[in-house]
Amino acid sequence: MRVSQMFLPTLREVPAEAEIASHQLMLRAGLMRKLAAGIYSFLPLGYRTIRKIEQIIREEMDKEGAQELLMSALLPAEFYKLSRRWEVFGPEMFRLKDRHERDFCLGPTHEEIFTETVKSAIKSYRQLPITLYQIQTKYRDERRPRFGVMRSREFIMKDAYSFDRDENGLDESYQKMYRAYCKAFDRMGLDYTIVDADTGAMGGSGSQEFMVKSEIGEGVIAYCEACGYAANEEKAQCIVQKKDVDMAEQPLEKVATPDVKTIEELMNFFNCSSELFAKTLIYRADDKIVAAMIRGDRDLNETKLQNLLGCIELDMADAHTVREITNAEVGFAGPMGLDIDIIVDPEVAQMKNFVVGANETGYHYKNVNIGRDFKATLVKDIRNIVAGDPCPKCGAPIKTAHGIEVGHIFKLGTKYSKALNCTYLDENGKEQVMVMGCYGIGVNRSMAAIIEQNHDENGIIWPMSVAPYHVIVVPVKVNDETQMNVAQEIYNKLLKAGIEVLLDDRNERPGVKFKDADLIGIPVRITVGKKAGDGIVEFKLRKEQEIQDKTIEEAVHTAIELVKAAER
Ligand code: ATP
Ligand code: MG
Repeated sequence: MRVSQMFLPTLREVPAEAEIASHQLMLRAGLMRKLAAGIYSFLPLGYRTIRKIEQIIREEMDKEGAQELLMSALLPAEFYKLSRRWEVFGPEMFRLKDRHERDFCLGPTHEEIFTETVKSAIKSYRQLPITLYQIQTKYRDERRPRFGVMRSREFIMKDAYSFDRDENGLDESYQKMYRAYCKAFDRMGLDYTIVDADTGAMGGSGSQEFMVKSEIGEGVIAYCEACGYAANEEKAQCIVQKKDVDMAEQPLEKVATPDVKTIEELMNFFNCSSELFAKTLIYRADDKIVAAMIRGDRDLNETKLQNLLGCIELDMADAHTVREITNAEVGFAGPMGLDIDIIVDPEVAQMKNFVVGANETGYHYKNVNIGRDFKATLVKDIRNIVAGDPCPKCGAPIKTAHGIEVGHIFKLGTKYSKALNCTYLDENGKEQVMVMGCYGIGVNRSMAAIIEQNHDENGIIWPMSVAPYHVIVVPVKVNDETQMNVAQEIYNKLLKAGIEVLLDDRNERPGVKFKDADLIGIPVRITVGKKAGDGIVEFKLRKEQEIQDKTIEEAVHTAIELVKAAER
């Protein structure tokens, strides 16, 4: 492709909302354009990389025996109503009606539709196992679309669904997908960690996420260097370090704490550490109001709480509700006298003589003791794990890191097959429910993650496997006939060898062309300059500083070898 003819609208300035490198670079390098919040158009250069990522995934899925198909994105509501997800998805689901007032949605994920399809076609154990997948556009009206295609409202997902006769079969199908994912992410050049993930309140017997470690990742990974344990924040269980608090219970004391609301203000007021406070958080769990107590310096994990309560929606109660329940302004909630369920974190359960809100504006209680002063409805782990907590497996100190979830594999069990009555007849002619797994990869999120891990101040540094083009040939002066001829010769030779190559034939200063080549991240640059007459060109890898003189033949040969090596 000749750069002069390309539709490549690079940008000098990116909007301030592009906070992270991949988002900025995808806009600057002309890979995509924003259409609306969380909605992007992929331009030719960006779309080439998308297609390469898709192809890598496709090849690895096919190798493990999965079969590709394509389903509609416009889906009738009935199957989601059967599984209850018509409600569960809440405002995240894009909903619409057809001219006959029938309900539809734009598919956020396709478990129900695959289940229905398999149900209508598969009757016998002989037809199982089967794994089907598609690479298709998904729609989710995310609460906070951000970071470009990292969290967008329309995105491409590879979603796969396995159907087995029993749990053992599911284990095998799951392992196949695990292998396919490792190979696919390896080929994309991603450095990732596989973590245990939460399976939710609805069951499921196991789940793992593929996390790309990155500062900007919205997920938190807890990992242990001693034993190899790794889990995400929702899953990582906090083990209470048993403290021998043989402290005598002090008499309860009500303390006037006017204008003291935050933990910081409390610490100053009582002149003690946040470990002596217990926060009481009021939540709305579907139609029920509950209280949750954690130590003053901890963060509540809403997924843990939600799983415990088995509710569909969980939100912090609004100020009005807090007032109604506690008879006090926000900031003075406490467990005493509350007539709702109180979920207490185990860490709080072993605290002695601590401080809580008094359910009266401007007051706190001091020397509070559980059992004596209030009762817990349930004592269960509901807080986020933090660095230094004991590893739930071996007890060594846990480390934490941020990560981008690029893929997710999940043993669903029979949740959807039961709801939609997806059964088969076993060897004895007996009806059995199919056992399912589901497996997702975010295609454009993977692309952004690759850029997060492969860039410098000048632009993207594409791994060869997903680069939109392998090589860029840059003649320094396009009106120098010798240079242009040599550039053209190299370009033709590479094209003939099946290399994806750009010829920057624009009449621009070399500095401009080098900058653009760096920005769009083409792995190999061959510069044709003054020495062209002697058959010498400059050879440079995007990821390295060094520039080497090579003969035309050498340059062509090395480029071909590099591309081939990446394909192996
Ligand atoms: P997250 O917790 O980040 O919202 P999720 O758990 O909702 O992700 P899944 O339903 O497991 O995601 O979807 C499978 C994959 O699709 C994810 O691993 C991720 O790579 C991708 N994905 C999910 N939501 C988005 C989104 N809004 N934008 C881009 N990719 C997404
Ligand atoms: Mg999500």
